[in-house]
Amino acid sequence: MPPSLKKEWISEQLCVPMARTCNLYCVYCQNPPAGDPVPREKVASGIRKKGVKAVSLEGGGEPTTNRDFFDWIRTLKAAGAENFMLSTNAVALSDPEFCRRVEKAVDYFTVNFPASDPETYRKATRSVKFAMALKGLENLKALGAERKIRLFHIIFRDNYRRLPLFADWVIKNFPGLAFVNFTFVRNAGRVRDSRDIVPRYGDAEPYLKLALAKLKLKGLKAVVQNMPLCRLRNFEGFSFEFQRWRRGDRILEAGIAKKAKNPACGRCSLAPACCGARADYLRIYGNRELKASNKKPESIGSEAF
Ligand code: SF4
Ligand code: SF4
Repeated sequence: MPPSLKKEWISEQLCVPMARTCNLYCVYCQNPPAGDPVPREKVASGIRKKGVKAVSLEGGGEPTTNRDFFDWIRTLKAAGAENFMLSTNAVALSDPEFCRRVEKAVDYFTVNFPASDPETYRKATRSVKFAMALKGLENLKALGAERKIRLFHIIFRDNYRRLPLFADWVIKNFPGLAFVNFTFVRNAGRVRDSRDIVPRYGDAEPYLKLALAKLKLKGLKAVVQNMPLCRLRNFEGFSFEFQRWRRGDRILEAGIAKKAKNPACGRCSLAPACCGARADYLRIYGNRELKASNKKPESIGSEAF
């Protein structure tokens, strides 16, 4: 968490789905844009009524493709919003002037960045915009906003072996960012039960642990979302959901599908602090990778948060 941000506003923020379309076409997109218009005045009136102070600008789609982007911010500010987070793929931020204006208006960036090389990026996004997205990140850094970036890295079939390389790349190029958020791909939206997109937990696990260790050794913060604690053995403290449990929040954020019931979880002492596996994962691979633990969640320390 950057020092300029209060801890509370991340969990209290209102998600504003202001995007109608996207400039990428990710294979794992969970919430593909449907093109439906989002009623700006209705959102603003909700903000006024509830006294919302912090908003997260996000999809279905890419918020920066909305040509009324700055009008949205003006309207939401007039309604009382003070803190703005932008969830973006950074492609549009490759334009230095646009990036400069956005950086002034936004307090915190969640940048969806699935690869540190053009080929893997192409497989994830089905686009050749790696250089543009990278330029977007570099523009933010040049504006002094590196510490406002959370790098969101979805783990999927074509990038999990490169997780340690991704960590090296972050360490070399963006050592001042707020943190790296690894998220195990959800079998939702465009994924449609595809084993070509969803890897096994166990296959991704060693690469993920190596990436986490590399980042930790260099003093960079990282969290992992949507990975059961039994697949993060000895790295449980990096789990985002575990960290939520430690600070007394609900384990799963609003809108996230519940964990699936299965026998190992019923016998597991980590269950209260674990995101478990989702039914959509078990539908592809079954539950044989889940192993009940005797570890007490209270005995596990949180990593760097
Ligand atoms: S995952 Fe994000 S960047 Fe990719 S297609 Fe979906 S909305 Fe666009
Ligand atoms: S067995 Fe279930 S509750 Fe226990 S760590 Fe694995 S997924 Fe979590």
